[in-house]
Amino acid sequence: MSDLDDLYQEIILDHSKRPRNFGPIEGPSSKAEGYNPLCGDRVTVQLRLENDVVKDVHFQGSGCAISMASASLMTESLKGKTKAEAEGLFQGFHELLTGQSAAKPELGKLAVFSGVREYPIRVKCATLAWHTLRAALRDSEGQTRQVSTE
Ligand code: ZN
Repeated sequence: MSDLDDLYQEIILDHSKRPRNFGPIEGPSSKAEGYNPLCGDRVTVQLRLENDVVKDVHFQGSGCAISMASASLMTESLKGKTKAEAEGLFQGFHELLTGQSAAKPELGKLAVFSGVREYPIRVKCATLAWHTLRAALRDSEGQTRQVSTE
């Protein structure tokens, strides 16, 4: 195992044990619930959008280390991003996980999930929070959308 792999493992473990931006936010402008039946991961994403900019984003839920670490790192990556930038990050993240492309610089810390491509079943764990986020971004009417990775 390379040093980089060790570092990546450490970041994922850290975020799964001590998730950032965990819990509800005051007055979310939208939210969505996601479920990955293959693994049993559940994630709720709440966000506050102002003029198409993500002002705040939090998550709640339970699941495997990959799903929780991914949700935690996602919330850190999104603050201050526009909807379009968030969508771009999701595309880059998805391409990284499915092996379609290498980690792009704008992914930053999200590159720690590059090893997940070796475990296709785990891709759904890592992308659950992102699918849930996209559902929340589409929702501006205050309705809670539900997504499933199947
Ligand atoms: Zn999982």
